[in-house]
Order: sequence, then C-alpha cells, then structure tokens
Amino acid sequence: MSKAILECRKLRKLYRGEGGNTLALDSFSASFPSTGLVAVTGKSGCGKSTLLCLLSLMEKPTSGKVYFLGKDVSKFKRKEKMRFLREDSAFVFQHYGLFEDKSVLDNVMIPLRMTGEGEKKGRERALFMLDYLHLEDKENQIVSTLSGGEKQRVALARALVKSPKVLFCDEPTGALDEKNGVAVMEMISSMSKTRLVIMVSHNEKLVSKYADRTIVMEDGKIKEDKVNRKVPEAYEDKKLHVFSSRWATLFFKGYLLSDFKRNFLTFLSGSFGSVGILLSIAYMHGNGPALKKESQRSLEYLSAQISKKEVVSTGNSPLSLTRTIKPKLEEAEEYLSLFSSISIEEDLSYFLPNHAQYSLGENQFNDASFLPIFDITLEEYGSSFLREGERIEEETINVCYVNDLYASTHPDIIGKKIELALTIPFEVLTLHEEVNLYYSFEVKGVMEEFSFLNVPKIYYSYPMLKQELRSIALAKLSEAFKREISVYDCIDLGLGGCNAEDYQVYFHDPSEIDKAYSLMEKGGEFTLTSSCYMSYSSLSTLSKAFEVCLWLLFGICLAGVIAITAMSFLSLYFKRRKEIALQFSLGAKNSEVIGLFTLESILVSVLYFALAFIVYPFVAKGFNQLLGMNFGINSALTLPEQLSIFGLSVPFFVIVAVAALVLAILSSALPIGLSLRKGLRTELRDE
Ligand code: ADP
Repeated sequence: MSKAILECRKLRKLYRGEGGNTLALDSFSASFPSTGLVAVTGKSGCGKSTLLCLLSLMEKPTSGKVYFLGKDVSKFKRKEKMRFLREDSAFVFQHYGLFEDKSVLDNVMIPLRMTGEGEKKGRERALFMLDYLHLEDKENQIVSTLSGGEKQRVALARALVKSPKVLFCDEPTGALDEKNGVAVMEMISSMSKTRLVIMVSHNEKLVSKYADRTIVMEDGKIKEDKVNRKVPEAYEDKKLHVFSSRWATLFFKGYLLSDFKRNFLTFLSGSFGSVGILLSIAYMHGNGPALKKESQRSLEYLSAQISKKEVVSTGNSPLSLTRTIKPKLEEAEEYLSLFSSISIEEDLSYFLPNHAQYSLGENQFNDASFLPIFDITLEEYGSSFLREGERIEEETINVCYVNDLYASTHPDIIGKKIELALTIPFEVLTLHEEVNLYYSFEVKGVMEEFSFLNVPKIYYSYPMLKQELRSIALAKLSEAFKREISVYDCIDLGLGGCNAEDYQVYFHDPSEIDKAYSLMEKGGEFTLTSSCYMSYSSLSTLSKAFEVCLWLLFGICLAGVIAITAMSFLSLYFKRRKEIALQFSLGAKNSEVIGLFTLESILVSVLYFALAFIVYPFVAKGFNQLLGMNFGINSALTLPEQLSIFGLSVPFFVIVAVAALVLAILSSALPIGLSLRKGLRTELRDE
C-alpha cells in the first residue's frame, strides 16, 4: 500500500439555496496515494466536482475532514494554505481557466513568479515545459488565439511547471475532440507516474484506458472504488517556500491598458470633483482675509465715531431707557488710550451735512456724500489707492478726493472745483443765529474704493471745516459776551449748538484698525462705530452664509469623488471576477488581489489630483476676476499654504497628497475587500 498523501473522512457538503438544500457530498471517505491516476466518475450532479473543490481547498466542507500529508487542512495556517495552492497542488479546468489576454509564456510563468522563482530560471523551466507539451513555437502567442487542444496543453503546462504533488483535473478532455483528448490524457497519464492525479471524467473509454483507480459516485457517496493497477510509490519533497507578489505586476500593466477608457473617465470626473474641492477650500480659507483687506480700501476706514450710552431709570418702574450721549473728551481719550496715534475731534458734520447741495461749474447737485477726513489720512493713506490725480500736499486743505463711483457720473472731474454755499441755523443760549458758510474744494484725485455697498463720495479736509468755523464770528453771541466768539469757539467752550452726540475719531495708523474692529464688535458703555465696519460686518455675515453653502458643495464633491472611484473600481472588480477567481485558484492572497486594484486606483487618483492642481489656478483666477469685477472683492479664493495639524504646520499640498492617497485606497479597496467572498472560486466551476 502506498503512503496516503491526501485523505478525506466523512466529507459532507450541503448547499443551501432558495429552491431548497442540496446535499452534494454525503459522508465521503477515501485515501489517495502519492502517485497514480485516480478517475472519479458518475452521473452528472452526483458530486464529482464538489469533491474536487473540497480536496483542492477551493471550498470548505460542511463537515468532515481533509488531510494533506497527514495534517488536517482546516488547521492550516495562512502560509500553509498558500504553500498548498502555490506549490503542492495544481488544478486543470474543463474550460482551461487561462488568462486569455496574456501570452502563453506569461500564463505558464505565473505559478513560478508566485513562488518567487528567478525570472531567468523560471523562463527556462516554462520553455522546457512548453517543449514537452509540443508548444515550443507558441510561447509568445496570446492565449485567446489558440485552439482548444492547445489551450488545454497550456493549462497543463501551467499546472505542471511547478511540479505539484497533487494535480486536480475537472473534465480535462471535456471540451476537446477525440484526437486532442487522447493526446492530453497521454500527458496526464505520464505525469501521474510521479504524482497523484485526481481526475473527474465522463469519458468511460479514456478512464478505462488510463486510470489506475476508478471511483464511481452516486448521490454524493462512493458507489464503487476499483483499483485497475498497482502504482509504484514515488515521493520527493523539494520546495522553495519563497513566495512573491511579483506576478501581480503583469496584471497591473494589463489592467491599466485594457481598461484605459474607464480609468480615463474616472480620472476626468475625479479631476472635476477635485477642482470643486479645491475651490471650496480656497474660498473658505481666503474670503475672510480678502474681505478684511477690501474693507480697508476706503478712506472712511480710518475714521470712526465714539459715543456713550447712558441708562436712564424711570422712577420705580422696572423699565429703563438707554440714550446715546456725547462722552466727555477725557472719557473718550481714556477709552481710546490703547491706540498709539489718533485724533479725537468735534463732530462738525452739522456744518457740512452729508447730502448737502453743491455746485460744480454751472450746475447744482446733491448726489454725493460729503465726508470729512483728517489731513494726515488724506496725505498719506489716501494716495495709496489713488487711481487718477495726485497726492495731496502737506497742509493744503482746500482740496478733496472723490471715489471712483462718483467719478463715473462726473467725468474729467480732476482739477474742477466743488463749491458749497450753506446757511445753517445755530441755536445757543436761547439765541438764534444764522451762519453763512462757504466752502470750495479742488478735486485732486480719484480713489479706487471697495465697491460693495458703496455710494458716490467726496472726501474733504476736516481742518478746512474747522478753519472755516473758526473764521466766522457769531454776531449776537459776540455782542452778549463783549468779545468776538466764532462758531468753533462756541462749540469748544461746550456751549453746544451743533447737535453732535459723538466725537469723530481719526486713526493715523491703519495697522491699529484690527483693534478698533474688535472694540466695535464688543460694544459696551462706549460705542465705537464706523460705516466701514458696518459694511464689512454685513458683507462678512453674507459671506458666512455663502460659506455654509460651500461646505455643502465641498461635501458633495468629496462624496462624488469617493463614490466615482469606488463605483468605477468595484465595477472593474466585477468585470475581472473570473480572472480573480483564477488568481485565487493559483494561490493569490486577498491582499495581492486588493493591492492590484489599490495600485490602479492610487495611480488614477494621484493623476486626477495632479490635474486638479494644474487646472485650479486658472479656474480660481477666473472666479477671482469675476468676484473682483462684480463685487470689488479680490483674491477671495486663496488656498492655504500651510495648515496646522496637532500643532505642526504642514504644507497644504502634502495634506492633499496624503488625503488623495487615503481616499484612493479606501474608495477602491474597501468595497472590493467587502465583496471578496470565500466561495468566489465557485465562479470557476459554474462555467
Ligand atoms: P457533478 O460534478 O457530479 O456534475 P456537482 O458536484 O457539480 O456535480 O454538484 C452536485 C450537486 O450540488 C448538484 O445537484 C448541484 O446542483 C449542486 N451544487 C453544486 N454547486 C452548487 C452551488 N454552488 N450551490 C447550490 N448547489 C450546488
């Protein structure tokens, strides 16, 4: 009796299906020696293929045990199972089970590449095997162009090139004509002299001629087990036990080329989505600073008003009223002491009302806002965004700047004179006076201002106003006090008369405005307000609302990119399913199969992110121009250069590259990993 290389005890396989359960194998026990050709025959559906699948470890039995070299295979470690599939056993299918789009040589070399055989030595062995199977001139031919007989010989070459201890053949001659069938059987028979061959066959003639032992099956059980001739024992243990994933590179190249169109479309959709992601990030990062910067593009930016809130309690009533009063100068100075250079001035706008009527040449207008600006501001800050005209010189006070919105309705305004002749009522100490004022400003320049919520403006020199009010004496009051008192003296003495409830504050240093804005946000007993801050805060509220929409876009783009990548690779996986089953039958690991897809997906994802980074600057520039032209907001889309992660500042492109890799790996490997099933090998049987 030969020593048993393969043994099975009480094997049972129950298939559960919708139409009921099928007991494909029922308490099957047999022992197989190390050499000889064992034929398994019986009527269709009696469980022959199921037996082969269980013995070759393609499927697990419902109960019972399989022993290989005396060891229970259900206790095999991962590496032992891999060794069994990659080295010790081989499978020949009825329909060849070859990689049809690969060359004959590539097909035969795959098992050698899997076991880590050197390329040169492997090639020699593969060519020797092809020679032996009379395929010497076919090595470079693509398998799909071969005849059935040739394909089955290639399948045999692939099975035998690794010198397996056990060869499983499922109807190896089933798809061949008689002549080719005999040729293939001759080869299988000669192989069985040095190894165990278990062959499922219907062909009684071939079985009786070549089989050393015949097992006839019926309803999943042994009906007859007949030894036709004794075989000598031959047993050699030689093996490398080096496994390699090098075989996968062949498939990687093939997959990239054969599914180029699909990969290209995934790449295109990924690029669009990625540009969307980058644009959303850019706006969310850039709009805040851009708005702040834009709000500074106005002379008004450097002026503010300070007032004081006073709570007025009404007797015993729980109600209390708040009114705005003018703070004392010392109080205002103390409140604003954190600013290094400011001027606190009387609010004299009563004497040059915001919408006063003025004359320009022959015509009268009241289409502009008159705004007083401190002289230093006009000289230094104003000229920084002068579009036309010239810088105002030191202590020239009868001059003004207009903004571009004003200039758009008054062409060629530079050098012209804006004149105002006003009669303002003035009440002081029950005395009623009329003050006749005359101002004349020469337009020195046009300034480009932040256009959002903007109106036509004329910025004139505050010292000019002050000087004018100083030069006008109040007749009735002067007479009562017996000395000459000017309008400004009267205000300065605190006698009132100009109805102002606040002080005008002029900042000389623009870098201090951030502090001023945070005071404006805070509020409190003293209130610092400026129209510039109001526009800024209303615009940033609007922009924040828009940002929420962009988060949505960001989420949709991200989900879209993940879904497209996942869907594309999952469908590729289903398309290549049969080939994957074949890879598994040759001993491929799950990680190697997933690795193939992950590599492909990483390549596609890296490429689409790279394209997105190339395209992004152009799209962002276009959007920035659009926003600049329509809303006066420039550079709202700016990508961050660095981001802080756990206190470390990391370059933005590094974060994006890592995110792209993680995204690619997860979106391709995860769905494929989840759909890898143990029973995938049944794909090969279903043929
Ligand atoms: P044979 O190879 O002898 O023709 P099989 O081993 O293929 O028979 O099948 C034995 C029985 O098991 C058959 O009745 C078949 O329908 C059933 N069977 C095989 N594979 C499956 C499966 N994956 N699911 C359900 N039933 C199956």
